[in-house]
Amino acid sequence: MLSARAAVRNLKEYHPPLGGREGLRLDFNENTVGCSPRVLEVLRNLDPETLAKYPEREPAERAVAEFLAVAPGQVLLTNGVDEAIHLMAETYLEAGDQAVVAVPTFSMYEIYAAATGAQVVTVACQEDFAFPTEQLLARLTDRTRLVAVANPNNPTGTVASREDLLRIAGAAPNAALLVDEAYFDFYGESVLDAVSATPNLFVARTFSKAYGLAGLRIGALAGPAEQIRMVRRVGSPYNVNAVALACLPAALADREYIGGYVAEVRRGRERLEQELDALGVRYWPSQANFVLAYFGGQGGTFIRAMRERGILVRDRSGDAGCQGCVRMTLGSAEHSERLIAALRAVVSELKNARVPA
Ligand code: PMP
Repeated sequence: MLSARAAVRNLKEYHPPLGGREGLRLDFNENTVGCSPRVLEVLRNLDPETLAKYPEREPAERAVAEFLAVAPGQVLLTNGVDEAIHLMAETYLEAGDQAVVAVPTFSMYEIYAAATGAQVVTVACQEDFAFPTEQLLARLTDRTRLVAVANPNNPTGTVASREDLLRIAGAAPNAALLVDEAYFDFYGESVLDAVSATPNLFVARTFSKAYGLAGLRIGALAGPAEQIRMVRRVGSPYNVNAVALACLPAALADREYIGGYVAEVRRGRERLEQELDALGVRYWPSQANFVLAYFGGQGGTFIRAMRERGILVRDRSGDAGCQGCVRMTLGSAEHSERLIAALRAVVSELKNARVPA
């Protein structure tokens, strides 16, 4: 009988809880109002030829390289950062190698690494989800071939310092260090400028978050040119579809749109954190477009009560060290205000429910 590889048979199934998602979607860290109108304009004017032809990645790749201020040979466009992670695992990991991640973090690192037959070494974050630099350094071995760090991290919103990331790159010269900057726009700090001088450093960016294009599936992987050439070998030449490639220049050009949206998210984040302080709900200060908060045993009730008010937020209880934690995405000013109003109402209901009758 046909059998999948052992590494695949042993993988956990990963089913993001999509199903319907009616209401205000603050559960997947997406842009809540959609992409720039300039992108919609490109979509409306797409011609049949664009769809009839196999997509040509190179012109858009050059545009993204210029935007990121790296050389064209240092960039590979990918089908979202998800594919960038997959390609990194395929390029650098063999069965028996080790991939190192600090947990809790984005689950695809572990999934794609484990699928190669590599061993996934998890290092627990420190108190308050601080990045465990020393502990991670202590777990590097001569079998470590991939280290993946989300910066800012999902689901915690916390960050690793540039100095610590570069220390890890230096300490593991035979491993690829992937710094996943999916939430870069909401943070503003990057190690992208260190790619040319660091032979094992890769940086991933996405158009799924601030740019509002999660449905188009576009990401970019930047790294040393000779390494990107290797990663390119394992990818499909048509991994990014023609519609996504056609939209990319317009998405990049509308700086005003991104700047405005990011400013709204940052204001909303500050407002939400102030509200959580006022309500006495524990949370972890975030550099991303979401905040992780602790509701303990009332997490499930909180999520259901928010859903009854038309707002979807995400249970993160299953993540390492996140029992009782809920992640809430910030969106436009109006959407963040709706979140805050509902949060205030639900938390006071929960407090009242605890008072014996
Ligand atoms: N990296 C991180 C840290 C994420 O949180 C996400 C989205 N949840 C991704 C990558 C996936 O991004 P993309 O849509 O570009 O595949």
